[in-house]
Amino acid sequence: MKLFENYSLKEFNTFHIDVNAGKFIVVEKITELDELIGPFELSAGKFLILGGGSNILFTKDFDGTILHLSFNQLTEIKSDDNFTYIKAEAGMIWDDLVKYSVDKNLGGIENLAMIPGTVGAAPIQNIGAYGQELKDSLVEVEYFDLTDRKIKTIDNEKCQFGYRDSVFKKSLKNKFIITSVTLRLSKYPVPILNYGTVANELSKSGIDKPTIKDVSSIIRKIRTEKLPDPNHIGNAGSFFKNPVIDENKFESIKEKYPDVPSFRQENKIKIPAAWLIEKSGLKGFRKGNVGTYPNQPLVIVNYGTASGKEILEFAQLIQDTVSEKFQIQLEPEVNVI
Ligand SMILES: Cc1cc2nc3c(=O)[nH]c(=O)nc-3n(C[C@H](O)[C@H](O)[C@H](O)COP(=O)(O)OP(=O)(O)OC[C@H]3O[C@@H](n4cnc5c(N)ncnc54)[C@H](O)[C@@H]3O)c2cc1C
Repeated sequence: MKLFENYSLKEFNTFHIDVNAGKFIVVEKITELDELIGPFELSAGKFLILGGGSNILFTKDFDGTILHLSFNQLTEIKSDDNFTYIKAEAGMIWDDLVKYSVDKNLGGIENLAMIPGTVGAAPIQNIGAYGQELKDSLVEVEYFDLTDRKIKTIDNEKCQFGYRDSVFKKSLKNKFIITSVTLRLSKYPVPILNYGTVANELSKSGIDKPTIKDVSSIIRKIRTEKLPDPNHIGNAGSFFKNPVIDENKFESIKEKYPDVPSFRQENKIKIPAAWLIEKSGLKGFRKGNVGTYPNQPLVIVNYGTASGKEILEFAQLIQDTVSEKFQIQLEPEVNVI
């Protein structure tokens, strides 16, 4: 392991907030986790696991200890007639795993191309995009249990996956360090095209029988055009979750706005937070160094040297404006620290 004191996190969060960590430890082996517990008091609020920092907003210096996992092995653990099972360690870059599987024509995560961050963070909010979610191919998650210092595995069902949700945000919160995930990928992949933009772009490119490679490439193109590159403009992707509302509430919005986009989710209705923000007059809205991204207002961007507090205040302003107009409370997707 490597230990640094008073360490700048500017390059370790995609908002590029300039804060320091009291201690920053690069954990190179799973076995090192056990050694770390005693000396660094890894209790809630005192420590944080940091992957790529692409789903975090730091609002102040972090006084405790930050652990950054660098173990990143990928192993094909077994294969049967239809599936290949792969185990990827937490420190691996998520998009490298997507590229690996697409190159081998193994289906299941191709629509999750270009999501920043690490494999270890992916199950926590059940990353999803363009009609696919991690839960669709995840077999199990291996984690270090901080309560008894044992390595455990938890299967897909026990992960209690939902929309941007899992057991890691509920009963296991602050009690775990994810060390690896195991995925089951199809040897006979069927492309998922139920997102209008993906199908449209494929047809514009003259592709009528797309492979998962085609789908993944088109999604990379769409994302490059639509989303700000965190290397150039600080951001953490969607700042808020899409709200899920009941039928009555939806009907009252539809009366006033017949064009409101919606997706049915069991007996509730999900409406895009981006639409609510746009209809609240905040698309491309900017205040000082913070703004909503003109091409995708759900993304809050740091145009320069904004502090985490400024970004949080800006997010609050969006929440208040949307709540006043639609009586819907937007919930952050980003972890505010
Ligand atoms: C441009 C952009 C686009 C994005 N698009 C999408 C998208 O389409 N879909 C989507 O779902 N997300 C998206 N995101 C959000 C983000 O990429 C994902 O949430 C990603 O999984 C975060 O990974 P990370 O390694 O950066 O996590 P971090 O930001 O480092 O951490 C996120 C949380 O997970 C915890 N954590 C991280 N690793 C571990 C571990 N090994 N064990 C325990 N806890 C851990 C952290 O403590 C923190 O609470 C986007 C972000 C950006 C910047």
